[in-house]
Amino acid sequence: MGMRSYQQFIGGRFVAGWGTGSIERRAPASGERIATYADGSPTDMDLAVESARIAFEEGPWPRMSGMERAEVLNRLAELIRANRERLLGIEVEEVGKPIRFARGDIDGAIGLTRYAASLAMQMAGLSYTNIGEGKTALVTREPVGVVALVTPWNFPALILSQKVPFALAAGCTVVLKPSEFTSGSAFEIAALASEAGLPAGAFNVVSGYGATVGDHLTTHPGIDFVSFTGSTRTGSRVVANTSRHLVKSSVELGGKSANIVFADADLDAAIDGALMGVFFNNGECCVSGSRLFVQSSIADQFIAKVVARARAMKVGDPFDEDTDIGALIDSNHLEKVAGFVRGGIEDGAELVLGGNIAGGMAGHFHEATIFDRVEPRMAIFREEIFGPVLSITRFDTTDDAVRLANDTAYGLSNYIWSKNIDTVLTVAKRLRSGWVQANTIIDGAPQLPLTGVKGSGFGYEMGQAGFEEFTQLKTLLIQTGSRAPVFPIRGGQ
Ligand code: NAD
Repeated sequence: MGMRSYQQFIGGRFVAGWGTGSIERRAPASGERIATYADGSPTDMDLAVESARIAFEEGPWPRMSGMERAEVLNRLAELIRANRERLLGIEVEEVGKPIRFARGDIDGAIGLTRYAASLAMQMAGLSYTNIGEGKTALVTREPVGVVALVTPWNFPALILSQKVPFALAAGCTVVLKPSEFTSGSAFEIAALASEAGLPAGAFNVVSGYGATVGDHLTTHPGIDFVSFTGSTRTGSRVVANTSRHLVKSSVELGGKSANIVFADADLDAAIDGALMGVFFNNGECCVSGSRLFVQSSIADQFIAKVVARARAMKVGDPFDEDTDIGALIDSNHLEKVAGFVRGGIEDGAELVLGGNIAGGMAGHFHEATIFDRVEPRMAIFREEIFGPVLSITRFDTTDDAVRLANDTAYGLSNYIWSKNIDTVLTVAKRLRSGWVQANTIIDGAPQLPLTGVKGSGFGYEMGQAGFEEFTQLKTLLIQTGSRAPVFPIRGGQ
């Protein structure tokens, strides 16, 4: 694709910034140098926040009609489509994800941007005329203000698009801090947004490390709202940061989702679901179905088929159309995944496939790995591995399945496979997670909100609810005509 070099994007243009160096990105699949991003400084962040503040207080964006904002966002969606192949290449190269799956990221970004455009037209409040004689109340919806967005490395363009167009649709202005591993598409999309007619300062991007610019942004007194996606550990730090200035936040965090297969499921579909659940995006996916629960009566046969299919999967070059599992994000993460696998073996889980770092390649590859007979006491059952490692646990009754699924610190998503509507609905109600899907997996649409409970965070992303996160209600009560005094003076007359 050629080496790319990105400066900060502040006030509608690329600027050198005040940081001293740059962050070098090497392709996780080949080790080759592919990009540099500016290593941002707190001063860069101050300038970006100031630029967003001026754009919010004085610029045209929050004052435009919903129709005008929708036009800009629809043009952005068109420009993302026109640059689809370039953005796709950047995502595959920087993340190491297989190209077959990455197409969905760019198409998803286009769909999210279009949906957000439609919401710009529908930003409405409520009115009341039933409060009393001569009274009219308007509950209006306003943009929340300058918003700070922080994104992770696993779906850079897609998660950006779950936030930026929704914030812009509401009339907010934005400062985005992308992941230091995968900042390319954020700068590309910010430049496309300018080309689409977004006013200068409405969308700023500052790259850099979490400990410097991320921390500075989320403690900044000049922001009104933070929307963060990332790990539970960083998320709780971000919430502590925002609490200093009583700034509202939404945090979309980690997961350890259950994928529950009942004996009465369409088993072929469930086998696909088991593979998709854990190997999609190299397993580097917050909503992956990394804990597979299989009803005992079908377990031996079902697991044998899952293992046979997984054994045939191809690990390798993410640009190869046949690749199922690409490279993990970096060597530290590969080592972390390998450490979980070693721990699983030591804890006594039964390794039935893989288990090793995939050798013979320049990048950070790990074999498709499956453990059977995993128990709740084991780390591979409890911790988010974020790699191509499946933990299988067998269960007998519906109660067992629900108890095992809920036995986690997380609560992002869960999946059910059954043809029995009673089972689907009763189990779905009992699962503690923001998302439940039945007979499908890692599915969704821009209209459907994503949210977590417990250690998976709080707040909404996507859907009407995700849009409303970027808004603030104002209650306006108006008295018309003459009326009795509010505090009749006692005894004074
Ligand atoms: P991470 O928490 O390490 O980093 C996320 C972002 O936060 C990065 O941009 C990072 O630079 C920044 N950051 C780090 N320290 C910061 C600080 N002190 N203040 C402000 N920002 C800081 O997460 P990651 O490794 O990039 O992503 C993987 C994690 O993200 C996984 O846990 C995954 O489950 C989660 N995730 C969640 C969702 C969801 O929608 N719930 C989606 C994708 C990923």
